[in-house]
Amino acid sequence: MIRAPREKTAEEQVLRSATMIGGLLCDGIGDAVSIDADLPLDRIVSLVYNTLQGAGVRITKTEFVSCPSCGRTLFDLQTTTERIKSKTGHLKGVKIAIMGCIVNGPGEMADADFGYVGGAPDQINLYVGKEVVQKGIPFAKADDALVELIKKHGKWVDP
Ligand code: SF4
Repeated sequence: MIRAPREKTAEEQVLRSATMIGGLLCDGIGDAVSIDADLPLDRIVSLVYNTLQGAGVRITKTEFVSCPSCGRTLFDLQTTTERIKSKTGHLKGVKIAIMGCIVNGPGEMADADFGYVGGAPDQINLYVGKEVVQKGIPFAKADDALVELIKKHGKWVDP
C-alpha cells in the first residue's frame, strides 16, 4: 500500500500523488494505490489510472509522447496533439509520438509505435518505430494518413 501525504490544495495533491506513487510503481514497489484527497471520485479514479499507465503498470489507453516545442516546431504542437488524441486516444497499448521537426524529433520518439513529425512547413512525415514510411504529407491530410497507417499495421480498433 502506497499512501501519498495530504497537500494544501487539490492540484498539489494530484501532482504529489502522481509523482510519488508513479515513481515507486516504476521501481516495482507497491501493489495497491490509496489516495486520500478532497477530490471528486471521478478525478481520483482518473488520477489512479493515469498514474498506473504512466508507470507502465497497467495500460488502458493510448500513450502519447510529444516534444516540448521550440523555434523549429513546424506546426501548433498543442492543438495538433489534442486533435490526434481525440482521434486515437482509445487505442489501448499503442504509443504515438508527435514531434515538431525532423531535426531532433525522430531521435526523441523513444519506443513509440508510430511517429507524426513535422518534415517541412505544412508537411508531415510518418514513422513506424524509427523508420520513416511516408514523407511530405500535406498537414491537412496527415491525421487521416496516421489513422490509415495504424489500421494497416493492425493496431486500430473502432472507438
Ligand atoms: S523535436 Fe524539433 S521542434 Fe520539437 S523540441 Fe526538438 S528540435 Fe524543437
